[in-house]
Amino acid sequence: MTTDHRSCDELSPIRIRLEELHRRYQAFHEGTVATYIPELAHANPDWFAICLATTDGFIYEVGDFAQPFTIQSISKPFVYGLALEDNGRNALLTKVGVEPSGDAFNAISLHKTNGRPLNPMINAGAIATTGQVRASSPTERFERIRACIGRFAGRPLEVDVGVYESESRTGHRNRAIGHLLRNFDVLTDDPMADVEVYFRQCAISVTCRDLAVMAATLANHGLNPMTGERAISGDHVECVLSVMASCGMYDYAGGWIYHVGMPAKSGVAGGVLAVLPGQLGIGVFSPRLDDHGNSARAIRVCEELSRLWDLHQFDPPPGAHHAMRLAYTAADHGSTRSRSAAERACLRRHGEGIRVVELQGSLMFSSTERIVRDLSNRELPSFLVIDCHHVTEVNAAAAALLFELADRFAARGTTVLLTHATHLAPLEAAFRRHESRSPAESRLRFSTTDDALEWCEDAVLEKAMPSPPPRTLDRLADHGLVRGLTATQVERLAAIMKPMIVRRGDRLVTAGDEAASIILLIRGLASAWNPIPGGRDRRLATFTAGAMVGEMAFAEESPRSATVIAESDVECLVLQRSDFDSLRDTDPGIHAVVWRNIACAIADKLRKANHDLGVYDHAPLSRG
Ligand code: GLU
Repeated sequence: MTTDHRSCDELSPIRIRLEELHRRYQAFHEGTVATYIPELAHANPDWFAICLATTDGFIYEVGDFAQPFTIQSISKPFVYGLALEDNGRNALLTKVGVEPSGDAFNAISLHKTNGRPLNPMINAGAIATTGQVRASSPTERFERIRACIGRFAGRPLEVDVGVYESESRTGHRNRAIGHLLRNFDVLTDDPMADVEVYFRQCAISVTCRDLAVMAATLANHGLNPMTGERAISGDHVECVLSVMASCGMYDYAGGWIYHVGMPAKSGVAGGVLAVLPGQLGIGVFSPRLDDHGNSARAIRVCEELSRLWDLHQFDPPPGAHHAMRLAYTAADHGSTRSRSAAERACLRRHGEGIRVVELQGSLMFSSTERIVRDLSNRELPSFLVIDCHHVTEVNAAAAALLFELADRFAARGTTVLLTHATHLAPLEAAFRRHESRSPAESRLRFSTTDDALEWCEDAVLEKAMPSPPPRTLDRLADHGLVRGLTATQVERLAAIMKPMIVRRGDRLVTAGDEAASIILLIRGLASAWNPIPGGRDRRLATFTAGAMVGEMAFAEESPRSATVIAESDVECLVLQRSDFDSLRDTDPGIHAVVWRNIACAIADKLRKANHDLGVYDHAPLSRG
């Protein structure tokens, strides 16, 4: 294990199982070490390591995971990726095909008429690919290759000079291939220079841990999960994985994909690298090779791992099925904006027209198809809020489907809003496009669903309420705090309350402070905020004229639980506890009525909270 995690993963069943596999196959001695490159014969046949690297950057390491060995053919997919970046898919396809050959790795198999090698994983295709890496000299070509493979491994890599010289002295078959490639103009410069670069790339020294990280980088769409560095553009990863899947394991490629089911590549020094896209990278190293030229232990270990943890690519994860987490309307769960009784009644009547769908997990074609089907088969609401708080990722196809849906809904008069989506670049981009086609005044992306709901509610209220409620409260007599008091009693209470003006951005109340007063909002807008894990704040409520602020902590005599910030200049009336307490002796009637009104205000908030919580009893629109 990596040292950072050694102490905490002793109990991990994954680590325990890897150690058990390693112990068991340590006793497996079939196969022989490659000798055709003389220097490779010096490998210790008992070297054996198994490593797993996850796409969130954790590594499990067992056995000789730090033992260096030469990468050999495992360099081929990475150089193919680099050549794809340099030339593009179509241009590269004119030089090297993507058909499995069924021949040995060193077969001289070129297309009969155009000389094009069948695929980039056999030597002929790999040498041709190396020649396509853009550079003005062989040295530069090799350095670009070394840097690229280093980005995958997450560290600078060196060449094992002994192995390089050994292959260079003996690699006449590869030289023959180089000349043939030159003959067919697949290679255009000095073919021997390209063959030397190829020998060097094969002699790059790696460890089993490196293999796992390189595989995890492919699994992570080209982004190294350990360093955060991009090794290759994500667009080319599918091409690289495709040739690995069909041609990566010499002439055992068919059997491998059948039994193990992961794109992979092996090399004659005994390394095997396998990729489970989106999930993890596997590296196994053991120098004894079977008849196909693959590490005999590595093949067995990978077969067992695939069966043990269901890693076969064609055994798809069930992620597609529950993308709709929750669906409700604003009648079930409104925004946290405090509303007058009339406004609330209006929203209960019209809130059905504001629908919220909370999506979750990974949005790809199949999960998004269900959402799209569900939404387009229902009566259209006036507003549809798509909440992506629990969406972990979205691919371009899913973003495009949701974008088209939003466009079509908009054409039928439904405003589609997107919330909590800043972590989903393709979706944000799609909605920015959608926004740019909508009327100039409309805002369609909100950081929270609460903001979006408030915006939709305002729009509904504006349309549905014949005379909008006053934005200011001119008389204390209109405030809920004094309900049930006579005019004279209101005047007596007013006499002990003090006016306060709070400028926009300043605090009315600070969390943790002693609750020495109740504040009544007369004019303006203020919001209460609570800190949530991750150092952010969550809006608890927005108050307007007529709202009572801080009554809960006042009643409990506990410290303030939230901070209230003025969102515009705010006018208030403040009732200090000491003044209020003195009413108990001077005006016990007023004191009792005000207490009852405070209790009612708290009960009202509790009722709204209970009502809103009911939303979690709603079944999602679609299941399974
Ligand atoms: N350098 C070796 C060769 O070209 C690589 C072979 C392999 O790993 O498959 O023969």
